[in-house]
Amino acid sequence: MTAANSPALGVPHLFFHADYDISFYGLEKLHPFDSKKYGKVWRALRGAALHHGSVDRPVTEAELLLVHTEAYLEELRALPYLARALELPFLRSLPRRLLGVATIDRIEAAVLQPMRLAVRGTYLAAQRSLQTEGWAINLGGGYHHANRHRGHGFCLYADVAIAIEKLRRDGALGSADRVLLIDLDAHQGDGLQHVYRDDPRIVFLDFFNAQIFPRDSIARERIDYAVPLPMACKGAPYLAQLDECLELVLREPSIALVFYIAGTDVFREDPLGGLGLSRADIIERDARTVRAVRRRGLPLVYLLGGGYTYESSGIIAASLRRLLRSEGD
Ligand SMILES: [Zn+2]
Repeated sequence: MTAANSPALGVPHLFFHADYDISFYGLEKLHPFDSKKYGKVWRALRGAALHHGSVDRPVTEAELLLVHTEAYLEELRALPYLARALELPFLRSLPRRLLGVATIDRIEAAVLQPMRLAVRGTYLAAQRSLQTEGWAINLGGGYHHANRHRGHGFCLYADVAIAIEKLRRDGALGSADRVLLIDLDAHQGDGLQHVYRDDPRIVFLDFFNAQIFPRDSIARERIDYAVPLPMACKGAPYLAQLDECLELVLREPSIALVFYIAGTDVFREDPLGGLGLSRADIIERDARTVRAVRRRGLPLVYLLGGGYTYESSGIIAASLRRLLRSEGD
């Protein structure tokens, strides 16, 4: 299909809640993660051509149980477990007088609640993209390391799987419908690969730095289109492989919905990703991916995934602004 007769991307719905940002007594500054990036992107998109969707509430316990085990949700109420999963070792050694007696309740409000709102946002974005046969953005989510009974790598809840299971239960996804997960975060999406180990209705395309966390060879067997990348991989070879893979994966039959985890930890300055993409490369990556999916008329959900520099929010906003400008393409 040529650019002249390709359909427009369409105006997306954007889901965000002011409480997506995480703050924890200022201690979040000790962590590489910019826990305020969600709000920064939202502010940078003011005035852009978007439909604003509202995130009405956090995901409920019953919704979490569509994917997670009760035992795991109970484990999340233990401080050492949370500290490990979120890679916040200082949580374990905080003096009690700083936190007071209701420690776990405070952590729940400060850390778990924002994530539960973002999980709800992923579901709402998916539901809306199906309803409109368009695309929707959740300014959060993409917690691809969480599986049914384990959280790690800053990921506690498997938002994509929770959205899929809820859509299946609601009948918005039929029993034969397949879902494509395009995971371009720098890390391998091990959690979701475990959740859907025995479900071929989920198709995985995963570009990841093979030298870094989580290096999960069992989960890797589940990836339909695995693209392990070398350390410091540059934009040109990355984008060339992306074009080839998108062409192939979008020929898969019966795809009803596409999730795109647009992690910005592929940025060359990122302390965790270990890849070599420039800001312009990332913007180009997002444009090629979104356009390729929308050219085929497939509903698309755009999720932020990881990104651990203070430049992440600016890159995400610039990328989305370019996509919104090209809405009339
Ligand atoms: Zn990542």
